[in-house]
Amino acid sequence: MAALKNEDGPLVASEDVKTVGVIGAGQMGSGIAQVLAQSGYTVRLADVDDSHLETGVNHIGKRLQRAVDKDRISSDDRDKALSRIHTGTDYAMFGDCDLVIEAATENEDVKRKIFKTLVPHLRADAALATNTSSISITRLASITDRPGRFMGMHFMNPVPVMKLVELIRGIATEDRTFQVVRDLAIALGKTPAVAEDFPAFIVNRILLPMINEGVYTLYEGVGSVESIDTAMRLGANHPMGPLELADFIGLDTCLAVMNVLYDGLADSKYRPCPLLVKYVEAGWLGRKAGRGFYDYSGDTPVPTR
Ligand code: NAD
Repeated sequence: MAALKNEDGPLVASEDVKTVGVIGAGQMGSGIAQVLAQSGYTVRLADVDDSHLETGVNHIGKRLQRAVDKDRISSDDRDKALSRIHTGTDYAMFGDCDLVIEAATENEDVKRKIFKTLVPHLRADAALATNTSSISITRLASITDRPGRFMGMHFMNPVPVMKLVELIRGIATEDRTFQVVRDLAIALGKTPAVAEDFPAFIVNRILLPMINEGVYTLYEGVGSVESIDTAMRLGANHPMGPLELADFIGLDTCLAVMNVLYDGLADSKYRPCPLLVKYVEAGWLGRKAGRGFYDYSGDTPVPTR
């Protein structure tokens, strides 16, 4: 089908979306690349260097192998998915993408630089999305040459398991862009929930202050790591305690989201806990760093406080 036209420029139609770019091969980017590849899309995956790409692709390979071991997919499905993922560090490779999803570190400067570098390489009718957990979609869109064809597509962690995708329009996002991104989320087997462009959207607006309160509870000595997590697992029926969950999300990402809430809503109730700040300063970023509120160097995680 021919591309549609209006003020912000041409836009690929949903049924023509076949090749999708993903920027950032960390926890989220590798998960997004995996579900895209498993759903039959050709994927172009970029990160800052080859070693990050190798790590990301290894994680995808391991997750797919686990799915084979559990008889959820065949080894042929695994091989086909892996063969659809193409990696590189040169953004020229995004030149044939119908849509690019940015999933790099939660830092506005990093994302700004990425969009500035990316835009000259994009096809005229390509759409753009960001997986940011908290940063203003409107502000990120304004950096690009296509704010009408830009929006938030917020996957949950781990992407292959979690059903939700929050869809966030910036002030300039056009309805046809929303349709293309919503259709992709549905094609990936996800359920969309629409959120307005306020700091941290819906899930993290509610979840991160709870996690931050969990860290305050630890900081003030109300409970140990183990008692806080046990209390919330068994007392609130949460599948993970707040500190386990913080480690899983990444403490740098948790802190970044709290800072966006604090700055964006100008309310002291979002003040990041000083202990969270200290852990991030120490490089104790959670599971991905091998240490956070738990130590992950052994077979089972050990509480650090
Ligand atoms: P991560 O630290 O696991 O991965 C980030 C990746 O981005 C790293 O591999 C890093 O090398 C790469 N990167 C940094 N600068 C880059 C650049 N200039 N070009 C290309 N790649 C670059 O972080 P993550 O958890 O995957 O988070 C990524 C994004 O997804 C963030 O915006 C985060 O807020 C969002 N997000 C995270 C979660 C979560 O639970 N962790 C959930 C939903 C959304």
